[in-house]
Formats: sequence, structure tokens, C-alpha cells
Amino acid sequence: MLLLYGGWVYVDFVNTKKYELKNQRYDTQAKLMQKRVSEMILSKQKATVAIAIALAGDGFLAQNIKSKNISDKYYKNLSAKFRKNTLYKNIWIQIIDKNLNSLYRSWTDKKGDNLRDIRKDIADAINKKEVIYSISVGKFDLSIKAIVPIFEDKEIVGALEVISHFNSIEKQMKKFDVDSMVVLDKKYTKQLKYPYTNIFVDEYYIANFDAPLYMQKYLKNTDIKEFYSQTYKIIQNNLVTTYKLESIDKELIGYYIMSKNIKNIPTVDLDFFVFKWIALGLIGIMVVAGIINISLFYLMRKQKVYYKSIIDSSRNIVMVNDGKYIVDANKMFFTYFNKYNSLEEFRQEHECVCDFFIEEGEYIGKTVKGLTWIDYIVKNQKSINKVKIKYADETYYFMLNAVLISKEDNYYSVVFSDITNEEHYKHQLENWSITDMLTGIGNRRYFHTKINDEIYNCMRYKHPLSIVMFDIDYFKRINDKYGHKVGDDVLIEYTRFISSMLRESDIFCRIGGEEFVILLPYSAKSDAQKIAEKLRIGVEEHKEVVPITVSFGVSQYIENEDVDSILKRVDDALYEAKNGGRNMVVVK
Ligand code: GH3
Ligand code: MG
Ligand code: MG
Repeated sequence: MLLLYGGWVYVDFVNTKKYELKNQRYDTQAKLMQKRVSEMILSKQKATVAIAIALAGDGFLAQNIKSKNISDKYYKNLSAKFRKNTLYKNIWIQIIDKNLNSLYRSWTDKKGDNLRDIRKDIADAINKKEVIYSISVGKFDLSIKAIVPIFEDKEIVGALEVISHFNSIEKQMKKFDVDSMVVLDKKYTKQLKYPYTNIFVDEYYIANFDAPLYMQKYLKNTDIKEFYSQTYKIIQNNLVTTYKLESIDKELIGYYIMSKNIKNIPTVDLDFFVFKWIALGLIGIMVVAGIINISLFYLMRKQKVYYKSIIDSSRNIVMVNDGKYIVDANKMFFTYFNKYNSLEEFRQEHECVCDFFIEEGEYIGKTVKGLTWIDYIVKNQKSINKVKIKYADETYYFMLNAVLISKEDNYYSVVFSDITNEEHYKHQLENWSITDMLTGIGNRRYFHTKINDEIYNCMRYKHPLSIVMFDIDYFKRINDKYGHKVGDDVLIEYTRFISSMLRESDIFCRIGGEEFVILLPYSAKSDAQKIAEKLRIGVEEHKEVVPITVSFGVSQYIENEDVDSILKRVDDALYEAKNGGRNMVVVK
């Protein structure tokens, strides 16, 4: 954002600079045009003077003026000769006597009129006896004039005036791609009795025939002051500048207006200037952006390395998960899932690490209560969430914590903390509390939880449940005869033996010193009786450590009765077996 804004400011600055340079260029150009035209006018004036002096050098002129005998034919020839032989194609001659009477005009036959009131320049030339060159306006035109006094024996007799126009200047200016328009100031317009060009625009007289129409339009509804109040004006792609035409008395009489198409004013270098600076700016921006980029790259790489090494140093499995798939995982992940060398390999076989979750007891599965395991963990941050993972014949337990790290990508960071040892220890403790330490089978507490569970199941699933209770016959005697240690060995050995004869689903517990219970889910009383009988004979024939016999009580759970009720019935059966002579099975 900042870079864009900077770029914008910069481009704006370069463009402003270009605009300034362009204006400077136009200003210089306008001044050059003005200087050029002023020099041309001056040189034209001087040339006109030279012509006038040359003509005045004619020895007969003074005499002819005095005698007022001017041969029209002679001077017509003379000016025609000039037109033919010089650059100046439009030259007019007027001859005036010392009283300012016009004796001859090359452009008209009119003569004899007095010019005292309208031609101050001629009066000056005669009175001051000096050559005068000027720009002036007469009855005909605005033109360039040279007036040379004519003497005879140091006595002034009159003057010769040579008149030329601006056309040759216009032509020369054209060579510099400049169009010209010579305009007479409005205050003199009325003075023109016989306008030479006859071109007028809004009372402005235009003194050059070739003034282009587009320039003439400049004058429409315009105050000419506007043109010279500024060095230049840009009008429709034209650079327009004005040079003031002044009389010998420095009186403003007209304007030389110049117009040059700006296409002809070289500004390509300015475009290059802009190009150059913008290119430099761009390079600058690119370099800066590049540096920032590279720095960011290194910074990020460094950060990534840091981040990697931090999560890799964790003893936990740390992964980024998009809710289902693993996006990233630390080294520890591959320490556990060591079959895989990369996430790609893992993903080829498993969509989710939850494929390995064993849903069991408090350990959560792929989904919990309608939520995905991750969503469940995120929503239940306060509770301890554990998973059991089976991988390559190993069982691991992990405590999980998941945090949403990017809402946009739906990325979670999930940490698996290994609690396998703790869980094993806990399971062991749990086991101990329900295990008989001598024989390794369930203890009385275990039996009580189990019998309640089994009663619940048998009520719910409508399957039978039988109980077999047995007590070793005359066990006291074994203790007495062989010692307590042998007694213990008998308990251990016969428990092992009986266990080996039972099904997996049967629940075998030691509920007293040498009193045992077997819960037989899915078995009716008759089946339980057969099993008890099989055990009784098995024990009798086992004869390991010390031969023993066992008495059995058997009973089946009756729907809706409570635990004590069935236990009492089976206890009674056992009591009957004892009383009935021992080593027998009694069913109640
Ligand atoms: P019967 O049951 O046939 O009426 O006679 P009995 O001798 O077995 O009598 P009872 O069941 O009342 O006696 C239990 C005896 O078992 C008491 C005790 O010395 C012995 N006993 C109880 N627990 C253990 C034990 O953990 N180890 C050993 N060695 N003996 C035990
Ligand atoms: Mg007993
Ligand atoms: Mg006994």
C-alpha cells in the first residue's frame, strides 16, 4: 500500500517536473520567436533604408523635387527593377517635398496632398534632417518604412520614402514553422482609408495577406491584450506569442502574432525524461521491493527454520491439521509412525491420523457425540481428551489438545502428548484394585461391579445369567498339614487350572479365602450345572500340589430380583453341597 502510494507520489512528481520543463521549453521557444521576429523586422527596416538611400542617390531627384517634375515612368521602372533584382518584391516609393506635399506615389496616381497631420515620421525626417526608419500606419496600411531626406547644396528639398510589407518576414518565419499574423491596433483602424489587404476581424486590421484563417480566429471575440499579457498562450496545440510593433515614438501600433504547432517544438526528450525517471523509479521500487522480498524471504525462512526446529524439538507430536488431513507434522510424528518417511507417504495410506484411534472407554474415536474428534477437542478444551492409538503392534495413549490457528484455512494445531506410561500405570492401579493379588483373578470388588453389569446386560438383552460359587473342602486341614505356603500354592494352581477350563466371557473371581465365584453369562442353570460338574471332576482328578475337592452351589438369575437375592440362593446351594457331603454340585 505504502509502496503504491509512494509510486503514485513519485510519478506525480515526475509529471509535474515534466510539465514545468515543458512550460520552460515553451517559454524559451516563445522568447526565441519574439527575438527572431524583432531581428527580422530590424533587418528589413535597415534593408529598406538601404534601398531608400540607393534611390535617393540619384542625382536628379533633388532637382526634380524642386521643380516638382517627377517622371512617373522613371520611378515606376526603377521600383520594378528593384522588385525584379532584389528579395524585396513589394516595394513602394513616395516622394515628398519639404512642405510635406506628396509629389509621387508608386501605387497610385494621386499626388499633391499634404501629409503633415498624418505622417509624423516624414515630418521628423525633413525637420531633423535625418534618415528615419519606422513601422507606421498610414491611410493604406501598416507597413515598414524608411524615409531619407533629400538635399541640394546642403539645403533640404524633400524626402524619399520606401515602403515595404511584412510578407517577406512572414515568409522567413515560416521557415521556422511559425505562422504569422500582423494586426493593427484597433485605435488606428479608422485611419485606414484604403486598406491594402482588406482583411478585418472584429475591427482588427490584418496587414499580411497570408495570415492563416486559424490564426484569424484567435481575434474573434478576444481582447488582443490577452495575447501579450503572457509570454505565450497555448491555443489548440499551438504555441502563440506576440511581438509588439511600435512606432518611432514607441507608440504601440500593432502586433506581430506568431503561432507554432507544439508538435514542432521538440519535447520528445521530455518524454524521455519522464520515461527515464519513471524507469529509474520503477527500478528503485523493484530494488526496494526486491530487498524487502529477499529480507522477508530470509526472515521467513529463518522463522520457518526456527518454527521447524521448535516443533521438531518437541517430545510431543505436533501437527497442523485442516480438520481432517494432516497439513504439517513435526519429527516426532515420524518417530511414532516410523513406517512413513514423509507426510505424502502417510497420506497415501491414511486420510486421517484418527484411523489409528481405538475408541474404548474414555478414549475418543474419529467422532464424538456427532462432532469430528478435532471439533470435539476444540469445544472441550477444559476436559482431558485422550486417545488410544494402535500402531504396529504397539499401543500408545495420548492426551490431545487442539487449537484453531487459522479460521481462513480451517487449520488446527494439534498436540499429542504421550501418556502411555501414565495410562499403563493407571490401568495397573485400576487392575490392582480389582485383582486378587494371590491368584491374579478378579477380587470381591471386581465381582460386585461385574455382577451388577451382567445383571443389567441380561435384563437388557434377555439372555440367561448363571452363577457358580465354590469353596475348597477342608482347606483348613491343608494349611494345618502342609503349611500356609502350600495352601497358597494350592489356591494359585487350582485357580489357574479352573481358569483354563472356562470361556473368555466367563467371569472368575476370588471372593473369600478359598471361596470363588464364576459368572456365566449366556448360560442357563442346566448349562451352569454341567460346567460345575465338569470343574468338580476336573479338580478332583487334577491332584496337583495337594489333591483337593471342591463343593459347588449353582443358581440362575431370576428377572428383576436383586443381587443379594441371587447371591443368597447360590450361597445356600453351596451350603447344601457342604452339608450334603462335599465334593458335589447343588443347584438351586
Ligand atoms: P469346609 O469349607 O470344607 O467346611 O472346611 P474348611 O476347612 O475349608 O473350612 P473353611 O472354609 O471355614 O476354612 C477356611 C480356611 O481357609 C481358613 C484359613 O485357614 C484358610 N485360608 C483362608 N484364606 C487363605 C489363604 O489365603 N491362604 C491359605 N493358605 N489359607 C487360607
Ligand atoms: Mg471357606
Ligand atoms: Mg472350605
